[in-house]
Amino acid sequence: MKILISQRGGYCYGVQRALDIAHRAASDSPGPIKTLGPIIHNPGVVRELAEAGVSPVEDLEGITGGTVILRTHGVTPEVIADAKGRGLAIVDATCPYVKVAQEKASFLGEQGYLTIILGEHEHPEVVALVANAGKKTVVVENVDELDMDKVHGKRVGVVVQTTQATANLAALSSRLAPACRELLIYNTMCNATQKCQDEALSLARQADAVIVIGGRNSANTTRLSQLCLEVQPRTYHIEDVSELEPGWFEGAATVAITAGASTPPEQMEAAAEWLAKL
Ligand code: SF4
Repeated sequence: MKILISQRGGYCYGVQRALDIAHRAASDSPGPIKTLGPIIHNPGVVRELAEAGVSPVEDLEGITGGTVILRTHGVTPEVIADAKGRGLAIVDATCPYVKVAQEKASFLGEQGYLTIILGEHEHPEVVALVANAGKKTVVVENVDELDMDKVHGKRVGVVVQTTQATANLAALSSRLAPACRELLIYNTMCNATQKCQDEALSLARQADAVIVIGGRNSANTTRLSQLCLEVQPRTYHIEDVSELEPGWFEGAATVAITAGASTPPEQMEAAAEWLAKL
């Protein structure tokens, strides 16, 4: 069996940066130290950080001192104001790519555009983008959700959740362009996601089966898995190597392995070792 391991899968720049920031905060910042939501969608890594003294909380309710770490997805301006009001030290690990998307959303709101956010409705990154863009904002997950009556003859701006697929943005752009009076599109997708997706697709085309590793609640991993599934029906999304089943790889001469942005790269190696033992 030939095993193809992704070179671009696993921790992206923003996640690695956030983990470094959290580990530094564990030794440098006043306690108790909390992350607002799990720092990444990976239970093992969250446990490890908890052992170092950094644990997740759902919200700031009842927290009156110490440090709060903002994770890669970013938060709404209201949450930052709330943390300041409680006297908390804020350590901002928002990914710089997400920050750019937030700035573009604010700009579109300030300039009076009807802002369309292309992304998942309840995703924390999208929630923060909406808060930055202001009231004239519509969230769509894909072009089919768009109500064309709302955009006809209007000044429309677009900001994209960083982990979206290119095809989704292309479809939305081509539907909007003929309908709007003015259209300003900020492609705020991040390179890391795009490169990882492109490589995964290329590997999936060469493989008879694909393993995608990462949290099931990770938007990034789920999208990676969906894309691979489109070119290789034998694509398996797992959170942990222990979920792998020998039957999935029957007759497979080549297997590709990739991982979402919140997955430690060692997990791809572990999957390769498991396959090698088959
Ligand atoms: S996937 Fe991109 S935007 Fe998201 S944390 Fe990683 S580098 Fe940042």
